[in-house]
Amino acid sequence: MLIRDKLFIGGQWAAPSSRETIEVHNAGTGEVMGRVPAGAAKDVDAAVAAARAAFESWSQVGPAERGAYLEKVSAALKARADELARTIAQEVGMPLKLAGRIQAGLPIANFANYAKLVKEFGFEERVGNSLVVREPVGVVGAITPWNYPLHQIALKVAPALAAGCTVVLKPSEVAPFNAFILAEAMESAGLPKGVFNLVTGYGAAAGEALVKHPGVDMISFTGSTRAGKRISELAAQTVKRVALELGGKSASVILDDADLATAVKSTVNGCYLNSGQTCTALTRMLVPESKYDEAAKISAEVAKSFTVGDPLAETTKLGPLTSKAQLERVRGYIQKGIQEGAELVAGGAEPPEGAPAGGYYVRPTVFGRVKNSMTIAQEEIFGPVLSIIPYKDEEDAIRIANDTMYGLAGAVWSKDDARAQRVARRIRAGQIDVNGGAFNMNAPFGGFKQSGHGREAGVYGLEEFLEYKSLQLKG
Ligand code: NAD
Repeated sequence: MLIRDKLFIGGQWAAPSSRETIEVHNAGTGEVMGRVPAGAAKDVDAAVAAARAAFESWSQVGPAERGAYLEKVSAALKARADELARTIAQEVGMPLKLAGRIQAGLPIANFANYAKLVKEFGFEERVGNSLVVREPVGVVGAITPWNYPLHQIALKVAPALAAGCTVVLKPSEVAPFNAFILAEAMESAGLPKGVFNLVTGYGAAAGEALVKHPGVDMISFTGSTRAGKRISELAAQTVKRVALELGGKSASVILDDADLATAVKSTVNGCYLNSGQTCTALTRMLVPESKYDEAAKISAEVAKSFTVGDPLAETTKLGPLTSKAQLERVRGYIQKGIQEGAELVAGGAEPPEGAPAGGYYVRPTVFGRVKNSMTIAQEEIFGPVLSIIPYKDEEDAIRIANDTMYGLAGAVWSKDDARAQRVARRIRAGQIDVNGGAFNMNAPFGGFKQSGHGREAGVYGLEEFLEYKSLQLKG
């Protein structure tokens, strides 16, 4: 049992203002794996005060020195990489080996990457008679989700600290233990007190207190579009800067000249990663009408190869969903797809055979002949549920790809690279994989439309936490 009963505020492990706690469940078994404090407005006040007090001096520390701290944080996380992977595999349900590579590996790499980027970044430039300088925005409130919990945290905390901001982190109440390991890494790196603060709690209490706080200059949020809208409204009262990384309903557009087997296999993999609990999941597969039958057949075969099981077992390819609420939500969407008349090609709403008892397991599911107007094609399901949508021609495919309120990601497949790029440019989304192009941690990440605004990763992510200042010089 993991019991965390303190918050990290002003460089100290401080007792929370109330005794209220939050139970955290093991996704693989459904059992309570531990508890964390349910922080409240008072705790947020203390954390913001500590971050404000630390800002003056931290913002004056040079970029090279800030980078050196980030390197130490990365090394401290690396030393605990196995523990991180195991913790997150249990909190979230991702198979352990994959969790090691993605859930632990990516944050470690991002802290190291920002250590490097901040040393190379140009904080000043001359424009005519002006010296334009980049300064940290101030105290940052970071609010993060559970699906890639430490990765989402790292994409905010590492660039914010690199920029010279101080941070109050409110991680997801569903997967909070990894954030405590990060706070310990900050402590062991010797980060000055108050530069990084951790308050766990529910969104409606600790989260909203942070968003409303007049001592916070910016909220960087990753999570649902629903919460993002609420946060924008609340933050407007104090004219805070807000960056939002929200949901998606991304299309994989398979053009008629593409290598169908490769494109379909890669799309199913892109849909089922982390049991479909990925904001960039390729949940809509767009195929030419003439290729529909073959695409459906290959998809069903690939879906069947996703062995469902305990995230800690070697043979598992598809772990459980993260929570009971997720399980009910995803099953509800599968039932809705059947009711609305989509063809069930693989999977279904019944529990998968042979999955461990108590955990939040669901069948890898494929719907065929989906109309883009159906609920399963419009709403973010956040589970391993793929919709195959047939289209008439290239124009029709582009129209369908763009016909949702989201615009986070996508993919395009064609034998002709120029054609694939031409189609990719017409999809209104923040990142499009062209013929299986790999994820790039230095490329900007973020959404169009109701997938949010602002960009994370690489120098683009660093710039989010900077203000411009013009010094008008004489002569
Ligand atoms: P969520 O919106 O329920 O919660 C996210 C975080 O916000 C949690 O820490 C929660 O406590 C907090 N929160 C909730 N309501 C709040 C409020 N009113 N005020 C302040 N804080 C509040 O989302 P989730 O269920 O944790 O995560 C899943 C969602 O996140 C999905 O929609 C997914 O697409 C999205 N997501 C987006 C990205 C991206 O980069 N675009 C990445 C990962 C996840």
